[in-house]
Amino acid sequence: MIPIVDEAIEQYAATHSGQEDALYQELQLETYDNMADPQMQVGRLEGRLLKLLTQLTEAHLAVEIGTFTGYSGLSIAEGLADEGRLITFDVDPVATEVARRYFDRAGWGHKIELRLGDARERLLEVEGPIDFAFIDADKTGYQHYWDVLVPRMRSGGIIAVDNVLWSGHVLAPREGQASDRAIVDFNAKVADDERVEAVLLTVRDGLFVARVR
Ligand code: SAH
Ligand code: CA
Repeated sequence: MIPIVDEAIEQYAATHSGQEDALYQELQLETYDNMADPQMQVGRLEGRLLKLLTQLTEAHLAVEIGTFTGYSGLSIAEGLADEGRLITFDVDPVATEVARRYFDRAGWGHKIELRLGDARERLLEVEGPIDFAFIDADKTGYQHYWDVLVPRMRSGGIIAVDNVLWSGHVLAPREGQASDRAIVDFNAKVADDERVEAVLLTVRDGLFVARVR
């Protein structure tokens, strides 16, 4: 991932954002030690933002597509109401084994329900109304996830979508790179979608934040 924002600035922003539980640091270290693509993890700045957005929507039901080792899921679950629930999807049994261990240890982990399987099908199982959703899985699936989610969101609910600047490749999608084209097409779709009001933030690798009307 090529940084969009100057790394020292992003670091400064992170250390001036809300404090995190020590568990996140441990999860970050374990992920960097053991996983092939640890930089997929959202990290402190985006993690604190996900928690804040979840709180702002006063979410009871949240959905995440792309659990990986659990950093973003833990952050979202922290922002949920006490009796709230996060349903998080992933296809990877190895990464989610790590996530499961951290969900078990976190004081708020009981709010998280991990569903192992292809979100392209399994997302259809979730009935709304959904208050908060985070899309962060396969980039070629983004348009599908969006189309399934939007009608299931409550009015005023928020959908956040990660990696929408895709290391800057959105400006010049590379020939033969399906994800480059998928992100470009997805962003155009969101920008034109009258069902939502969206802002594309230059946080980390780009984060779309869309409020459903
Ligand atoms: N949000 C995570 C990072 C997600 S990385 C964090 O902050 O730590 C993207 C994840 O999407 C990977 O773990 C991958 O296994 C998962 N994924 C890819 N295709 C998927 C699909 N069709 N359904 C569910 N998960 C998928
Ligand atoms: Ca991501």
